[in-house]
Formats: sequence, structure tokens, C-alpha cells
Amino acid sequence: MCKVRLNSAGQLRVPFGYVSGAACDPVEKKPFYHLLPGSGALTFGMFGCDFHCAYCQNWITSQALRDESAGTRIQPITSDELVGAAQRQGARLMVSSYNEPFITSEWAAEVFARARPAGLVCGFVSNGNATREALDFLEPWLQAVNIDLKTFDDRRYRSLGGTLERVIGTIRDAHARGIWVEVVTLLVPGFNDTEAELRAMARFLVSVSPDIPWHVTAFHPDYRMKEPRATEAGDLVRAAEMGVAEGLRFVYAGNLSGRVGHWEDTRCSGCGQTLVRRRGFRMIEDRLSPRGCCPGCGRSIPGIWAAAGESRRESGMLDRRNALST
Ligand code: SF4
Repeated sequence: MCKVRLNSAGQLRVPFGYVSGAACDPVEKKPFYHLLPGSGALTFGMFGCDFHCAYCQNWITSQALRDESAGTRIQPITSDELVGAAQRQGARLMVSSYNEPFITSEWAAEVFARARPAGLVCGFVSNGNATREALDFLEPWLQAVNIDLKTFDDRRYRSLGGTLERVIGTIRDAHARGIWVEVVTLLVPGFNDTEAELRAMARFLVSVSPDIPWHVTAFHPDYRMKEPRATEAGDLVRAAEMGVAEGLRFVYAGNLSGRVGHWEDTRCSGCGQTLVRRRGFRMIEDRLSPRGCCPGCGRSIPGIWAAAGESRRESGMLDRRNALST
């Protein structure tokens, strides 16, 4: 399905030693909101995906092996060169994204095995179509994963190439292993935006942990899905309010910066104070204490707020510097 693995003269081959692209992005763009806010994430991808979503916004890499019009080229690179690029650009994270990273896990493991000793936090942005064995393989290196929860309807999941059971199993499994999990739902009008479906997604996430951040983000017509209208700010706010009503403590509205009120910010789940203010991919203010707690009521906020060996105070300084440069 993914078209990246092959049997060549009796040898199983996997993709290795290239990227389709690499860039230092704000971590908020992934999106990760409870992971070193304001930091740079050296983000790399390969080709291919085991899903074939008609609205894919990364189709020039994810569908490059199915769709000749993608026209993207391979760039040979070593894992040390990727780590060097991260260090030169002051990144604090190394993230595999742009294609589906679980289908290119061996290459990600090679990069992460170099990145972690260099102090970089390693993560995936994934569709969640992972086996337990893939998580076993990656667990020594993978510290964070952002998983798309595209729908709560198994028939629709099958139309994209997966199953609901597999994706929600990956969310549960990754969380149980102590990997930091954030979940994204691209809100597509008429596809996954009924109240019943949104509430079911939120209830499922609460059953895993009410502390999982849920990002509801805006769709715009893209690739082969030109029909539904673009998501409006009111749609996002409505979905975010449902998430909170179902018991999620951290819900965010994305892709319509400046039009969704406080839904871009992190607020304390205890006293409601604003702790991290954002506009789009930019962190504007970070008021978390050195230990990642609310300065008002002292509640500990779930997330990764400092990389290994850093104190929060040091990381806060880096956060601000990176926020200014992005
Ligand atoms: S799972 Fe993600 S990368 Fe793959 S086709 Fe769907 S939207 Fe694109």
C-alpha cells in the first residue's frame, strides 16, 4: 500500500539516506503545543503514505509514488548531516513529517539515534496507522507523536486507506508507553463535523487521558477534494467548545489565526489563567514556571517543557529567542 518497501532479488529493501525535503519549522506548525513552545523543529520527510486522503495537504510528498504530477525529487543526505543542520539552525527538536513517518521508520530510527544524544527531542507527525511492532521498534527514540484522528466513522477511515480501530489503538498505545501524544482533527465540512462525531472523538480522547491536547484545524479545498467549503472560524470554535464540554482540558483551534479568540492559547486547567499565548505559529508569551507549572495556582501542566539536561529557565530564554526568529 505504501509503495516504499520492496522485495529486490529476495532482499527486503526499505527507504534510507534521503529526504524529500527538510526545513526548520516552528514546533507550533506541527502542531505540538505542549512540547518546547517557541522552539524550532528540524523537520524532514521522505516519500509515500499508506493512506490516500483526497484532501492531503502534503500530497507532493505523500502521494509522489502514486501521482506523477507531484514531481518532487529525492535529496540524498546522511543522518549526521540532518543533526548538523538542526544544530546550525538552533532547533531543539527533530521531527519526521511531510510523508507518513511510520512507513519509513528505519530511516527515522537512524536519524533519531543520532539526534537524541545531541539533545534533540524526537517526534513524528503521523496518521496513526501503526502496528504494535512499529511502536516497539521506535520506542527507544520516539518521545512525541502527533496523530491525526480524521473521523470516528470506520467506513470513512476505510475510504482513506485505514481503520478507526488501528488509529485509536495507536493513540492508546503511544500514550500508555509514555510517548507525549497530541491529536489533530482537520475539520472538513460534511465529512467529519457532525456534533455526534466530534463529541465521540472527544469522549474517546478523554477515556485515554483528558490531558491529551486536541487540535481542531481548518480545512481548505486542496488536491482532489475541491468540493466542501473551507472550514470557518465558527466551526472550529463550536468543535473546540464540544471538546471542553466532553472533558478535555486542552483544546486548540488551528489554521485560522487571529479569528478564534483564546483558542490558540494554553490556559491553566486549574485556575484558567493564560499560560502560553500564540498567534499562528508564533509564541508570543510563555508564563509557565521553571517546572512547567501555572504561576497562579501552581498546577502542573502536562507536556515536555524542557529538553534533557536543560532547566526550564534556560529553555524559556531559548524559547523567546526562537519565537522572535520565526
Ligand atoms: S494520511 Fe496524511 S499524508 Fe497520508 S494521504 Fe492522508 S493527509 Fe496525506
